[in-house]
Amino acid sequence: MNCIFCKIAKKEIPAKVVYEDDVCFAFLDLSQVTDGHTLVIPKEHASNYLEVDDEVLAHMSIVTKKLAGIIKEAFHASGVNILSNAGEVAGQTVMHFHMHIIPRYDTSDGIEINFKQREDELDLDKILSTIKQ
Ligand code: 5GP
Ligand code: ZN
Repeated sequence: MNCIFCKIAKKEIPAKVVYEDDVCFAFLDLSQVTDGHTLVIPKEHASNYLEVDDEVLAHMSIVTKKLAGIIKEAFHASGVNILSNAGEVAGQTVMHFHMHIIPRYDTSDGIEINFKQREDELDLDKILSTIKQ
């Protein structure tokens, strides 16, 4: 499979390695949206958050939490976004599951997550019943 993150995990392509164990691999994101921007990936290929093995995800969640705390402290960041894009429409560009750790410094630091209030009328009961079906 021609997957760039598989190649990074196998060290066929160089990366700035932040952390590694048997299950996962963390390295600096090339784009550095903010200083310290790090990706955590499973060593075994999975396409996204919804597809990754539960035990691998549980392990990665613990590693991501630890790294996020360490990175936030190291850069004296004010906060951190921890997120994963699943699917092209959600902004996923590399189809190998990854968690982003993005330290936040202020509101003009290069990343904007903006939950816009919708203006159409909402039927929350209908939405809830769709989920429960
Ligand atoms: P996505 O948009 O899929 O959630 O995020 C993919 C991320 O991978 C982007 O932030 C991009 O900068 C990063 N990226 C893509 N190719 C490489 C690479 O070869 N090396 C590293 N370190 N990061 C990469
Ligand atoms: Zn892969």
